[in-house]
Amino acid sequence: MRPSVLDPLFATVAVIPGIGPRLAQLFDRLLGSSTQPARLIDLLFHLPTGVIDRRSRPLVADAVPGEVVTLDVRVARHQPAPPQRARSPYRILVEDDTGDVTLIYFGGGRQRLEKLLPVGERRIVSGRLELRDGHRQIVHPDLVLRPDELAGASLVEPVYPLTEGLSGRIVAKATAEALRRVPQLPEWQDMERQGALPPFAAALRSLHQPPDAEAADPTSPGRARLALDEILATQLALGLVRSRRRRTRGRVHQGDGTRVAAIRAALPFKLTAAQSTALAEIDADLAAPDRMLRLLQGDVGSGKTVCALLAMARVVEAGRQAALMAPTEILARQHHARIAPLARAGGLEVAVLTGRDKAAERAAVLDGLASGRVHAVVGTHALFQESVAFRDLGLAVVDEQHRFGVHQRLALGAKGDSVDLLVMTATPIPRTLVLTLFGDMDVSLLTEKPAGRQPIQTRAVPLERLDEVVGAVARAAAGGARVYWICPLVAESEELDVAAAQERYGSLNQALGAGVGLLHGKMNARDKDAAMASFAAGDTQVLVATTVVEVGVDVPEATVMVVEHAERFGLAQLHQLRGRVGRGGEASSCLLLYRAPLGPVAEARLRIMRETEDGFRIAEEDLKLRGQGEILGTRQSGVPDFRFLRPDIDADLIAAARDEARLVLERDPELTSARGEALRLLLYLFGRDEAIRLLRAG
Ligand code: ADP
Ligand code: MG
Repeated sequence: MRPSVLDPLFATVAVIPGIGPRLAQLFDRLLGSSTQPARLIDLLFHLPTGVIDRRSRPLVADAVPGEVVTLDVRVARHQPAPPQRARSPYRILVEDDTGDVTLIYFGGGRQRLEKLLPVGERRIVSGRLELRDGHRQIVHPDLVLRPDELAGASLVEPVYPLTEGLSGRIVAKATAEALRRVPQLPEWQDMERQGALPPFAAALRSLHQPPDAEAADPTSPGRARLALDEILATQLALGLVRSRRRRTRGRVHQGDGTRVAAIRAALPFKLTAAQSTALAEIDADLAAPDRMLRLLQGDVGSGKTVCALLAMARVVEAGRQAALMAPTEILARQHHARIAPLARAGGLEVAVLTGRDKAAERAAVLDGLASGRVHAVVGTHALFQESVAFRDLGLAVVDEQHRFGVHQRLALGAKGDSVDLLVMTATPIPRTLVLTLFGDMDVSLLTEKPAGRQPIQTRAVPLERLDEVVGAVARAAAGGARVYWICPLVAESEELDVAAAQERYGSLNQALGAGVGLLHGKMNARDKDAAMASFAAGDTQVLVATTVVEVGVDVPEATVMVVEHAERFGLAQLHQLRGRVGRGGEASSCLLLYRAPLGPVAEARLRIMRETEDGFRIAEEDLKLRGQGEILGTRQSGVPDFRFLRPDIDADLIAAARDEARLVLERDPELTSARGEALRLLLYLFGRDEAIRLLRAG
């Protein structure tokens, strides 16, 4: 149970006065998830990406057009819109000794403006200065203050990432209230060792209500404090998992090799050297009496699935069962469709279990798993459900692990007697991060791709040349090619995104005549399967999809990938998408359609995509580009839940936190001391509290 002192922070934003149901919904969209409404802690952890600094007060003549300026002026005269032209703005001329500026208000009530800016009086006015026909103007100043109000005003304003309908001002106000509600918390860091960092609450305040622009900078002590907290929480959680892992011994899974050999003989290809090495490592783990906790890391298309299959066969040989968990329904079914026939060659019965199986099928699978007739199962998170019981689960394989939390991993592990765990990730995580994130795991790398793969021709094409691209796709399709056409999720509204995909589907259908399919997140599962299946079978040659296909889908015949609005995707995501083609022996191409002009970061991303297919290099470059205050988010990087960590500048903090966690757990392995109690709070605050459950169970 979460300590009640933290309750105020885990309340939903609706408790804040002034946030009604409509605003709450917007906050949920900005900060919540499908299962979790936005809470005060989410507000506090939603950091500004920068600040507007209004402190400098130039003379009017020195103020630079295009910049946000703060001017100390006298109000010279009001010029209301002429009565017959109600749409013209209301103008107010203000001046100092060096020049004048017109303030422009659209639809601004006269009475209000006369009160705000009385003629003859002095006011502090702040807003973006523009030059129009040689005259200075500010449209709708952001701030108008009396001189006596200046001292109490905050002139350094945070700039927040927003969602449609939610203004920065509302977010700032809500955040101010959340800051007021931060309870008194004991210090969990060893401040003697960590030096001059502010306390948790002060760090939050300095980032949300920065006294100056430096306070909001990534190099500020406030950001460093929170990053240190975040890394320490992660390292502690990992340490707790690891120490418990030592306590739970594993089981020896040793087979006679017959099933594995039969499956290998049935494979239409030879394993790569990297696959063989990884399998040898996995086999050694399975055969050892320790519990396996291994990360199989391999770029898209490196052939992780077959490694999983052979590991599962090994465990079945030893008389136990295996489960493979995929993040989506589509993937679970695809894995099953590919694995089951090969597995049968080794005499393995493999079932599939997802959230929407028919009752009778489901009952049969559950029965088979309980009796042991079914040797292995492929499924989604439906595998966690309590009704799913195994006769003797020996191995759990988790595909694309970043989609699952630690909690879910543990839940699957709990389905058997010290279940061995193999986690597969397609997102190449830079070496610098593996330790931070998976400090408790052994790592196998698939460093090479199967032979015969040809390089993917990657080109960036401006959207103005859409017609040419459609023409090229039409020709390719006429020649028998299979094409993915990806439409972006802009995240503001899924409906709009789906509408965009539908529109593209319509226009391609018209251009191509037939053979175009559509796949998006709002379709029901059966329609999704059908769309995927007919693309895999070649009945549709062009599949228009939102990013649903991002993860793992395997149609080796597909050779063309078109990504529309490529500038909106992160590098890791583009790399994943491109990895959907180039999986067979045919030459493939990837067209990145972008809207010009490109910002510097987007331009760099597209350039890197053209330069390399090496997932590790792309991941490293990605980290560098994330310098611009972009949060290391879950979707794009595959790295779970880091809000404050900046791997590019936090190497020292990572090392410090790792040492600290080790020290803490040596002295107080159950976190029962006073500091241990404080550290438990830290784990809750940063969502690493699954680890606390281990303590109680432990
Ligand atoms: P990922 O690592 O991205 O999950 P998959 O396991 O889906 O990759 O494999 C990608 C494709 O490569 C599949 O079509 C698979 O059958 C094929 N493949 C896997 N291993 C080999 C190999 N050693 N030689 C040739 N093709 C292979
Ligand atoms: Mg895969």
